[in-house]
Amino acid sequence: MQARFHDGLTARSLPVEVTVEAHRLSFDADGETHVWSLADLQIEDLGDRLRLSHPKVGDGRLTLDAAEWRASGGGAGLKAERRHRKREARLVVGLAVAGLAIAAVVFIGMPAASGPLARATPPNIEERMGRNFEAQLSIAFRPCDPSAGQTALAAFGQRLEAAADTPFDIRVRAVQAPMVNAFALPGGAVMVTDDLIALAKTPDELAAVIAHEAAHVERRHVMQAVWRSLGLGLVLDAVVGGGSGAGQQAVLLAGSVADLRFSRSAESEADVRGQQLLEANGLSSQGMAPFFQRIAAKGEGAEAGAVRELMSSHPDSLRRARESAARAKPGAPAFTPAEWDAIRMACQKPKRTLRQILKNPLGG
Ligand SMILES: [Zn+2]
Repeated sequence: MQARFHDGLTARSLPVEVTVEAHRLSFDADGETHVWSLADLQIEDLGDRLRLSHPKVGDGRLTLDAAEWRASGGGAGLKAERRHRKREARLVVGLAVAGLAIAAVVFIGMPAASGPLARATPPNIEERMGRNFEAQLSIAFRPCDPSAGQTALAAFGQRLEAAADTPFDIRVRAVQAPMVNAFALPGGAVMVTDDLIALAKTPDELAAVIAHEAAHVERRHVMQAVWRSLGLGLVLDAVVGGGSGAGQQAVLLAGSVADLRFSRSAESEADVRGQQLLEANGLSSQGMAPFFQRIAAKGEGAEAGAVRELMSSHPDSLRRARESAARAKPGAPAFTPAEWDAIRMACQKPKRTLRQILKNPLGG
């Protein structure tokens, strides 16, 4: 397209050939190639002619035919470019807002918001999430084979479920892992490690730990913890791009941000409620205190890291032991002697050490 170029420094007016591309126009003048971005063009309408200027060249300007400019697609390109710029600006604002949201979630928002969010999470979503967790966890926490012991644990879970106010199936199972641990997953799965079973001296003790976990499920503490730690990832996902999982990965990588443990008040609530669930079944709630005492003693030893969930209480274990002892009521044992024997035999395969698991996660 023909145009005349005034460099803004001299009175000269040079004929130039202007090429318009998607985001820019270019022309040669005095052996120099000028490239102007369309988005930054200033356009002065002179009737059938246009005067274009660009911040790059100060008072320099191009004068060209308005009809030719439109035909060249310059106008359309300009509009598209400006829309693009606007989108970018919106994205920048969006990122800034998301950044603030992330900060709020981390420092103020999510811990406070996680309770209502957990209660508002549809149970079927929580269940689906739980199944994903379970699949991933089964690498490190391998379910022990079906056995009379597993059956007894599952039946006990159903008794707790019947007393609990929960939409979830409370599915209790023994898993194999080189650590003392019991934990609940979203959606009602409760895992007890073989080491924890071995640490329990009586059926009442094991029943108390499982009831405590069932209470976490019922009160939706599990989902709350998930919201607290994954909330940040969900926000990041919303920014980075829906469903890409990039945000989740960022959070998992920044593992220190995530903290799946429960608050002290959630632990105390689960203690109280766990004992109620036992009592509602006519079972003894006296096993909690001695087990906490044992955990506290163990927590001071070499295996402190291994008693993690239960230890999220520590150094509260002794206080919790005292409080649960004060609330405890006598009742029937949760398991018959035959069931108790079967439970203690539930995971009899040779143990894999943590080192073996890390080296060969799926291996048998
Ligand atoms: Zn707990």
